[in-house]
Amino acid sequence: MAIPLEWIPDVPMQRVICHWTAGTHRAGESDRQAYHFLIEGDGRLVRGVPSVAANSGRRLAAGYAAHTLNCNNGSIGVSLCCMEGAQQQPFRAGGYPMTRAQWETMVVVVAELCKRYRIKVTPRTVLSHAEVERVLHIEQKGKWDISRLAFDPSISGAAPCGDRLRREVTAAMASTRLPDIRPVSRDARIEVEQLLERIGEMIGRAIADGIIILIRAIGKRFK
Ligand SMILES: [Zn+2]
Repeated sequence: MAIPLEWIPDVPMQRVICHWTAGTHRAGESDRQAYHFLIEGDGRLVRGVPSVAANSGRRLAAGYAAHTLNCNNGSIGVSLCCMEGAQQQPFRAGGYPMTRAQWETMVVVVAELCKRYRIKVTPRTVLSHAEVERVLHIEQKGKWDISRLAFDPSISGAAPCGDRLRREVTAAMASTRLPDIRPVSRDARIEVEQLLERIGEMIGRAIADGIIILIRAIGKRFK
């Protein structure tokens, strides 16, 4: 499979966020307004109405894909058509459970998008809607797509599902079966932003490590 080139315009994008529609196995009209790419129950890829370009950069263009609350800038929205009537606790997948075929298409689609948009596969850049609040610290009001795989009950929770997605996307990107895709033009501004983000992450980790060492030291003092 290869995403048609006219579906993936040459604009800078920063991340891919994966969803489910909470609808049937078909891409309905309102679903197509909300995402850039949809995958139906049989694994067929459907183009959403908004162009990826509408979500590029700091300013959202009219008719952008509003798929993730306060996190649509630079975010490509991919959604699996499924899970209408699903219930989180206790888990019930409803009448349109996520299928293995659509998960597998998603892995390839995300791999192609990462290659096209020069997106590195990390928890901050390839993630599900259910991971956005914890990882990017942007409130999402209890969204739980994708924290369950209806076709594989052995896996549960946003992070395990996201880790599996990233593992499989990474493998797909390394596979020789992935079609040749020309990456988008380099954008100096985006590269500086990505660099700053990486430095910020490193500083954050260093501070967290420092606090843990400090707490341990204090703990020893008062033993
Ligand atoms: Zn969602």
